[in-house]
Amino acid sequence: MKIIDISLKLNNETPIYPDNVPLAISVHHAMPEYSTHLSSITLGSHTGTHIDAPAHAISEGQSLDKIPLETFVGPCRVIDFSKEEGEAVTLEFLKNKNIKTGERILLKTKNSLRGFEKFYDDYIYLDGDSADYLASLSVLIVGIDSLSIKKRGGADQRPHTSLLEKNIPIIEGLVLSDVNEGEYELACLPLHFTGIEGSPARAVLIQR
Ligand SMILES: [Zn+2]
Repeated sequence: MKIIDISLKLNNETPIYPDNVPLAISVHHAMPEYSTHLSSITLGSHTGTHIDAPAHAISEGQSLDKIPLETFVGPCRVIDFSKEEGEAVTLEFLKNKNIKTGERILLKTKNSLRGFEKFYDDYIYLDGDSADYLASLSVLIVGIDSLSIKKRGGADQRPHTSLLEKNIPIIEGLVLSDVNEGEYELACLPLHFTGIEGSPARAVLIQR
């Protein structure tokens, strides 16, 4: 069995989406004064690789803890958009991928080739028609290698709303640099916060 880590590293250099809560890690108790070492961590709910729940964009939407854990673990398909031109994953592209109801879909784009040393404004995103399409197929979950699935500052909210209205959670901030298109097992579990709209998660692909 091989496990591929597809999560962003979390440290004080982790890129953060503009105006989100900064990630700050510091020493809380230092050895030897307290004979134990503890770190203090402050972060936003959408830090690093994280999951958006319906409550992120839908009023009265489900919080993350209400989504069955089965959604986050199981077969998935990585679809490679990284060789395509264009600033967004399009409907035309996805329609050729024969996506079926109940699939877990992870989108690899040029974001993964450029890397995640800093936040780039011009990241590749999912366009609204593509989000409508994936929602209409009732996929189980959609992941992408950008800190937001929608265009920065874009007026079209459908990349969030179309999916989240149908209780399809979104994984953002994936690292798919070393992953080829194909089938894998996904395990991506959010922390067990209750009543909120998102949480960091450790995402891995398992190859057997
Ligand atoms: Zn998010």
